[in-house]
Amino acid sequence: MSDTDKYGINTRAVRAGQVRTAENEHSEPMFLSSSYVFANAAEAAARFKGDSPGNIYTRFTNPTVRTFEQRLAEMEQAERCIGTSSGMSAIMCTVLGLLKSGDHMVSSRSVFGTTVNLFSNIFPKFGINTTFVELTDYAAWEQAITSETKLLFFETPSNPLTEIADIKKLADIAHNNDALLVVDNCFCTPALQLPIPLGADIVIHSATKYLDGQGRCLGGAIVGSEAILGEDIYGFLRSGGASMSPFNAWVFLKGLETLAIRMRAHCENAQQLADWLSSHSSVERVYYPGLDSHPQHDLSSQQQSGHGGIVSFEVKGGQDVAWNVIDSVDIFSITANLGDTKSTITHPATTTHHKLSDEQRQLAGIKSNLIRISVGLEDTNDLIQDLDQALP
Ligand SMILES: *Cc1c(COP(=O)(O)O)cnc(C)c1O
Repeated sequence: MSDTDKYGINTRAVRAGQVRTAENEHSEPMFLSSSYVFANAAEAAARFKGDSPGNIYTRFTNPTVRTFEQRLAEMEQAERCIGTSSGMSAIMCTVLGLLKSGDHMVSSRSVFGTTVNLFSNIFPKFGINTTFVELTDYAAWEQAITSETKLLFFETPSNPLTEIADIKKLADIAHNNDALLVVDNCFCTPALQLPIPLGADIVIHSATKYLDGQGRCLGGAIVGSEAILGEDIYGFLRSGGASMSPFNAWVFLKGLETLAIRMRAHCENAQQLADWLSSHSSVERVYYPGLDSHPQHDLSSQQQSGHGGIVSFEVKGGQDVAWNVIDSVDIFSITANLGDTKSTITHPATTTHHKLSDEQRQLAGIKSNLIRISVGLEDTNDLIQDLDQALP
């Protein structure tokens, strides 16, 4: 790591990874160049051979993408980060880079809907099969592991029910079975949770969410050690082509500078909304790790430095009541995105999780009366008033 290694996470978020050019710019520049020029034919040959370090082509390396990667790696306390074109391509490059036909994965059942689709419908075409287990049933994780298991995968908190898994415990299970532990840290970001010091081998990000924070760009990241990322995953990315756009990298690296203060505000607003929803007569149940009623409230307090910005709740009634609430709000945007300054509202059963079979949805606990909110940075009083007029 660089010399910002000795600093706190906020200093790293603002300073890490920047290399000033001869122009002495203060803010990081955006390098919009698909390829790079060599001084002569011999230098070109040396670059391609790998004998001389330096840029060749933006699918391999780009200075703006590199600044983002170094900054996020230092925030996650990892050696290396690889930027990718989306959160899903980060997951794809990790799995296809490390595994081969005949290998096996164990995944939490409560992961992002598209991740479930990738694992259960697409990877099996290439001979990579996944067993899904209950996120917090640690005995089930152990039982699902076979001699072919190479990787354990989960999100904590889960989407949309905000269940919390013990990262240290799952890291021990993975390592006792010669498997790698992969944590999708999208909901917490390094501002609230650091899976690598807790034993995770790889951290995945959808940078599209809180790292951008204002709903502008699609991107992702893979974070971990040089030994795990350097050859197979980076090699897959270079040839597979799921590279991060330098424009998007610039947006994300500026997003990282304000990540910690944004996450603190998201957490405060979410807590206020969750407390208010808990006492509403039309609400059956609220899912938020900051509530004493949350089954893993203590683990969340210990493992995370904040309870996050996602609140889900079940209304009294069925899908019609839930849809009516969603159609009646004025401020909240009806969109599946999350981690935005703008608060968003969704009906998971018919949107983000519609591809799941009825059985998968039932096992994941996604009921038809469930509403998910990504709490933004508006005035909480306005959000509460808006929900109050929308709820029956
Ligand atoms: C959105 C999301 C992804 C996928 O990221 P994209 O950038 O949309 O490809 C993966 N994991 C989680 C937890 C997400 O919320």
